[in-house]
Amino acid sequence: MEPSVHESVGFSAGCPDCGAELEGWGTHALVGGSLRWDTGINCPACGCAVLSCGDDDVPAELRARLLADHGPARLQVDPSAGGTAIMRVLRVELGVDLANIRSVLHTVLTGEHSGTLPEMEFLARKLRAAGVDAVAARP
Ligand SMILES: [Zn+2]
Repeated sequence: MEPSVHESVGFSAGCPDCGAELEGWGTHALVGGSLRWDTGINCPACGCAVLSCGDDDVPAELRARLLADHGPARLQVDPSAGGTAIMRVLRVELGVDLANIRSVLHTVLTGEHSGTLPEMEFLARKLRAAGVDAVAARP
């Protein structure tokens, strides 16, 4: 099995219960071929703790924090791979519809497709499995 990829971020936030400033953390990860996320806060003032996690789309707020902290990772594909195999992976794995597939393919072929490192690594592995030379990289 390929190694897991994790990306984490810490942040400060207001406690939902008492309003005190607290430290929160969030992680996005590619584990065993699946994307997962978790996020949590712990309030030192009132002791309240909130943990959430999921294997669906990473929450927009957490994703924005990860991208702000680490910068976006980019997907790099061999441009000679041809669009058909790449489009198939994009449709299956990202659910890109036909109306948008060409513009998404364009961002992939020009190296402009970006996201969190686990997201890009996930796509790179799916593309390699489909015979397309692809890597996730952070410039
Ligand atoms: Zn509190």
